[in-house]
Amino acid sequence: MKLIIFGPQGSGKGTQAEVLSAKLKVPHISSGDIFRNQIQSQTELGRLAKDYIDQGKLVPDDLTIKMIKDRLEQSDAGAGFILDGYPRTIAQAEALDRVVNIDQVLEVWISDEESLMRLGGRRSCPVDGTIYHLKFNPPKVQNQCDKCQATLIIRQDDTEPVINKRLAQYHQQTEPLKKYYQLQGKLMAIDGRPPIADVTTEIFNKLGII
Ligand code: ADP
Ligand code: ADP
Repeated sequence: MKLIIFGPQGSGKGTQAEVLSAKLKVPHISSGDIFRNQIQSQTELGRLAKDYIDQGKLVPDDLTIKMIKDRLEQSDAGAGFILDGYPRTIAQAEALDRVVNIDQVLEVWISDEESLMRLGGRRSCPVDGTIYHLKFNPPKVQNQCDKCQATLIIRQDDTEPVINKRLAQYHQQTEPLKKYYQLQGKLMAIDGRPPIADVTTEIFNKLGII
């Protein structure tokens, strides 16, 4: 299954994409994770993307489109994938349509207030990317990844002014994708407000996954 999951910052895309990826046995492809890995590995792409990411701005389409095309060409993505964080502009969606046929698009919605609250408590594993929340999804041992025991981090761009910028950008540039995929008959709206397991159940039900 070739799926896109999109929604505002903190709606739970990464969390749900991980569950879907394990269930469907297809890779979870997160554009944000790829950029962060590139920055950590000090590649040319990482160097070019870093300033935009630190400021909460979108990385320019030409760089982002090429990066995702390269990733989708890798053999593990042939049978399907969960695309998280891409596309974020109509130009990115059009570029994607030229290289692959997407089956379904999940739009997970929550309010901006909820986004801010969730991102304030988000912690992530710098090694395997597992996402936690201090209150809603805490690790078993404080500040330590359940899977690999690495010390959890707060993402550098999860500060209130940068979150507000990213949310404004979402409403301006990414929300128009709703209409774009509605016209293609692929959009499924998911209420992102209930607890994590309930959102998963709604997604599985809507996709017909048992
Ligand atoms: P969030 O959605 O919470 O902002 P992500 O982890 O998805 O975080 O992305 C982090 C940053 O990486 C974004 O703020 C943006 O700068 C950049 N980025 C990720 N995906 C894209 C994309 N599709 N287009 C442009 N920039 C992107
Ligand atoms: P996104 O990828 O959309 O930015 P994440 O999956 O990183 O969102 O989730 C943002 C934060 O909210 C994380 O700390 C995560 O543990 C928490 N979270 C995710 N889904 C829910 C939910 N349904 N209820 C409460 N907290 C959630």
